[in-house]
Amino acid sequence: MKGMVNTVAKLYFKYGAMGSSKSAQALITKFNYEEKGMKVWLIKPSIDTREDLEVVSSRIGLKAKCTPIFPDTSIWEAFESQISRKIDVIIADESQFFTAEQIDDMRKIVDELSVPVLCFGLRTDFRTNFFEGSKRLFEVADKLTEIKNICECGRKAIVNARIDDNGNVITEGEQVLIGGEERYTAMCHNCWRKAIASQE
Ligand SMILES: [Zn+2]
Repeated sequence: MKGMVNTVAKLYFKYGAMGSSKSAQALITKFNYEEKGMKVWLIKPSIDTREDLEVVSSRIGLKAKCTPIFPDTSIWEAFESQISRKIDVIIADESQFFTAEQIDDMRKIVDELSVPVLCFGLRTDFRTNFFEGSKRLFEVADKLTEIKNICECGRKAIVNARIDDNGNVITEGEQVLIGGEERYTAMCHNCWRKAIASQE
């Protein structure tokens, strides 16, 4: 089987806030393809050193081995090393951490090799700005799908609030923090804004 029946290969970005079960959905999608006898190449940016580089895992306990992609890795060239496996689909987790060049590599794989690519990841950082990978995906993906998550108040959560040890929302700092001492909470924009205002 090559690609998806009766459809042109597409670049997908399935995005959501923290805790919206993106990794679980990536792994379930992988399972569904494999159940149909299709070969999946599961990849993940290697920027997150807190976790095992070669495993995609979800909070509900699903996990699978993946190929780590380093910031200077050409995904186009890395894909060539997989050619003997006759890959039918690429599934990427934590796609916000890819570089724009790496997203363009995946765009090229879709266009030139007709292999669909499904990217899962965050839309924005703790200050509501795009990550490099998510920005490029919004620019060039064929299909954008939101994976919804709910704020404590019941509204849709769209902000990945970074919370300090005292429970305060942090609005300054590096976009990506290695180490994991900071915690994140998915909030609606209104609760996020009010939380910041109440701290001033
Ligand atoms: Zn809220």
